[in-house]
Amino acid sequence: MEIIKKVSEIQGICLQARQEGKSIGLVPTMGYLHEGHLSLARAARAENDLVVMSIFVNPLQFGPREDFATYPRDMERDCRLAESVGVDYVFVPDGEEMYPQGYNTYVEVLGEVTEKMCARSRPGHFRGVTTVVLKLFNIVQPHRAYFGQKDAQQAIVIKKMVADLNLPLKIVTCPIVREADGLAMSSRNTYLSPEERRQALALPRALAAGRELIERGERDPRKVREKILEALNGAPGVRVDYVEVCSGRDLSELGVLEGPVLLAAAVYVGKTRLIDNIDLEVKPCCAPC
Ligand code: AMP
Repeated sequence: MEIIKKVSEIQGICLQARQEGKSIGLVPTMGYLHEGHLSLARAARAENDLVVMSIFVNPLQFGPREDFATYPRDMERDCRLAESVGVDYVFVPDGEEMYPQGYNTYVEVLGEVTEKMCARSRPGHFRGVTTVVLKLFNIVQPHRAYFGQKDAQQAIVIKKMVADLNLPLKIVTCPIVREADGLAMSSRNTYLSPEERRQALALPRALAAGRELIERGERDPRKVREKILEALNGAPGVRVDYVEVCSGRDLSELGVLEGPVLLAAAVYVGKTRLIDNIDLEVKPCCAPC
């Protein structure tokens, strides 16, 4: 495995691989790798000749009062882990390499997908994500790029950008990897104290309660949302940012739950903001109403 810091170098390597007819898989990350990231790299390894993982804590997607400065970083460990799952190149640019002095171009997906949920409490976040992701696509020119369902809204926004701009690559979404007790893996979980770590379990449990309600036949999104909200509001140490029950295709509002459905929530546990979701395919309810 090679570690590449320069845009021109990774671009040259990837261009040559493409010319040789090799397929390229890209796994964009912000590092501090865990099994969630590694699952994306394994999927990329299984489907491509060349696997590039980017590790870049993208300042553009953090708000001024967010955790850019304190975001956990451990490049040595990350490189060991990336190598262990067969990554060929880790691309680790610094801020100046990605956004040199005078940088002034941004990519923004407009509409509902970037107006609700995480967009509300993180203005500018998705603009930062789409800008860096399009830059990475242009640098690496992958055939496939791998994203986690953990960031469901992000995956939908990126798919929309890819469709709208006719980008010639496939977006592959991989399932959420969880800790044994159900908490979705996240680099930010390291911020949690032992007590907060226990309190954070309310998030996957509340979403699971919503899913159970659907499994028992409930098809009213408001009732499912209320159930999740109730569970979170009753949980010690948890402050709700949002709970959403909507279309898993495009985050649009649903009158009745049917087809791809997303149960998504963001909460604060102490100072740490956590997100999680469950996506499911809901069949029409056959029970008499
Ligand atoms: P991040 O480093 O947090 O920006 O995440 C990089 C990629 O890994 C994104 O596509 C995330 O959705 C994905 N990811 C993060 N956590 C998980 C997880 N627990 N399971 C699956 N994918 C994840």
